[in-house]
Amino acid sequence: MRTDAAYAQELDAQDPLAHFKDKFVFTDPNLIYLDGNSLGRLPKATKAMLNGLIDEWGDRLIRFWSEDHFNIARDLGDKVAELIGASAGEVIIAESTSVNMYKLFHAALEAQPGRTRIVTDNLNFPSDIYILDEINRKLGNTHQIEVVQSDDGMTGPVEAIKALLDEDTALLTLSATVFKSAYNYDMADINAAAKEAGVLVVWDLSHSVGSVPIDLNGTGADMAIGCTYKYLNSGPGAPAFLYVREDLQNKLSNPIAGWHSRKNQFDFGLNYVPKDGIERFYSGTPEAFSMAPIEIGVNLLLEAGMDRIREKSVAQTEYLISLVDAYLKPYGFTVNSPRDAAYRGSHVAIGHPEGWRINQSMIKDMNIIPDFRAPDNIRLGITPLYTTYAEIHETIMRIQRIMDEKLYEKYTLASSATGVT
Ligand SMILES: *Cc1c(COP(=O)(O)O)cnc(C)c1O
Repeated sequence: MRTDAAYAQELDAQDPLAHFKDKFVFTDPNLIYLDGNSLGRLPKATKAMLNGLIDEWGDRLIRFWSEDHFNIARDLGDKVAELIGASAGEVIIAESTSVNMYKLFHAALEAQPGRTRIVTDNLNFPSDIYILDEINRKLGNTHQIEVVQSDDGMTGPVEAIKALLDEDTALLTLSATVFKSAYNYDMADINAAAKEAGVLVVWDLSHSVGSVPIDLNGTGADMAIGCTYKYLNSGPGAPAFLYVREDLQNKLSNPIAGWHSRKNQFDFGLNYVPKDGIERFYSGTPEAFSMAPIEIGVNLLLEAGMDRIREKSVAQTEYLISLVDAYLKPYGFTVNSPRDAAYRGSHVAIGHPEGWRINQSMIKDMNIIPDFRAPDNIRLGITPLYTTYAEIHETIMRIQRIMDEKLYEKYTLASSATGVT
């Protein structure tokens, strides 16, 4: 592959998704933003939409709910369903990803009496592990949690996981795209193995939704949760989504059974009777302002089409890896993401023993925003709706300058990376 700057310009000129960049707010044209996998950019349309919603509150007061927004969490769930291969009535928006994990992990364990093993991997996100541990502790340590280790800290330990799927296992939970290396599990393969053993699966789609095509129904997925503030561009703290396959919904119970999940909730009866269907996973009043931007974020992705987004994401991550090989390998950089695109999501982690200091220099000297994940991963997030090939090329040039001029040496060695980037 060509590695010159002119080639990047040519690739941008041929990019069928290039015009989507104009739909986002850019305030610093020199900033290279490679952290859309932690917090997506602001779509231009979102600002006006939110202002309109605030005006509605001012004018309509309590009528805000009854006139238009009472079912917002369900309506936006149906919208997200279009993006992840789910059906209408299988997805709601609610709370944070972590809280939804609690709901679904707890529900899955309760639905599998007699099965005492929980399986996950050490590539999973901290919340997922903490919440499993805490649920188990509150149940009286009734379960054995197997955290299957990845051999290389990058690749999913698929065979070792499958070996634990038997009649003793209640629940398997994995991040479909893992947050450090971007390794992608083959969801159809894992779902099939779990189903055969009667194991329920909860997928964490936080790093997958909007970056790789997801087909929950087509791959036979039981349950899933995921973020909307990453590739769905719905804003800081936008609530998460929760998916439960239709035929499972009424067999499960919600451990945070608030009034919004009660049948005939406006009876205000003090005896709890869950709603039928996905709405039994509600808890309280929907976070209307925070979730409203999801519609705009998802519509942009649907308009671009997940197949075209994936195609561009693969092309851009391949391009990035080829530039790392060509320019940065001599300085001791490694590629800490799978080289086979079929097993890679939409970010590339590059490693270096000085990774933490180099990451600081990228932010402070070079006006690039990546993020750092211990021990040595500098994550470069590709968001095909607005990342250009020219930015990828320029990123590599700026990192090369950091290395040539040893700019990173002025930063202190941090024993632990604190803060968000
Ligand atoms: C970002 C992320 C989360 C975040 O959870 P919140 O409760 O929204 O903070 C969870 N899981 C994974 C895999 C993530 O990447």
